[in-house]
Amino acid sequence: MTSLADIPNEARCKRIIQTLKTGKDCCPRCGARLVFKHSVTYGWCKHCCFKVRPKAITWFRNSKLSYRTIFKLITCWQTRQSPGAVRAITGLSYTTIARWYAKFRNHIPPDGGELLSGVVAVDEAWFGKKRYGKQTIVMGAIEIDTRKLRLKIIPDTEQDSIELFLEAWVTRDSHLITDCSSSYNGVEWLGYSRDAYNHSIGHFGQSNHIECIWSAMKRHLRKLYGCIPTKYLQAFLNEWMARHNQPSLFKSPQNYLKATLVPC
Ligand SMILES: [Zn+2]
Repeated sequence: MTSLADIPNEARCKRIIQTLKTGKDCCPRCGARLVFKHSVTYGWCKHCCFKVRPKAITWFRNSKLSYRTIFKLITCWQTRQSPGAVRAITGLSYTTIARWYAKFRNHIPPDGGELLSGVVAVDEAWFGKKRYGKQTIVMGAIEIDTRKLRLKIIPDTEQDSIELFLEAWVTRDSHLITDCSSSYNGVEWLGYSRDAYNHSIGHFGQSNHIECIWSAMKRHLRKLYGCIPTKYLQAFLNEWMARHNQPSLFKSPQNYLKATLVPC
């Protein structure tokens, strides 16, 4: 995991982004070395004076922030810093920070989309306050051995919705760990085997794995926003899945940028 002290200087950040974007660290025209300076927004070739702009044709091309601040923001997001802490580090407003966090989330590359198999813990969770009416139901499944995770918003907890989710994300011969809800009664027909634990009398067994996901997610959302923002919940679920399924994306800003800047 990168700490803020490891973030390179402005010129170095520009060079990293240029290299990740084009796949090479030299002038695209003549192959000579490029020069980057702290105070100049572009880099140039020492040999033929060709100018390069690292931000051009990237997803943050319109941003006015310095390259180093973008690196800092990515590191803060990866290490799950709260907006208050990020404001103290970067001096940016809460709105700007929220906008960048949303950008990082939306640019997470999709993972392989493989189905879960083996022993899989499945559960639903309710997000949002009951008092304000509409709550959002999230269905989650985690493969116990590999900690691979699938999360999705479902319209209700009827048998049909649950079976649709299982068919989409869990292979048929898997062993499911569920609660005692009657919505799971038909899963044996679909080819799954099943162990049910009665959560209301305190029996959790291996379904602890998925219960831990819910509590960690809710705690983190409260730390970030002070509430559960159901409006952007699917984007947040995608981030949480990526944290489980593609942990390398969250190791350093370079890793994240490498996956999101497609070489051209
Ligand atoms: Zn050149």
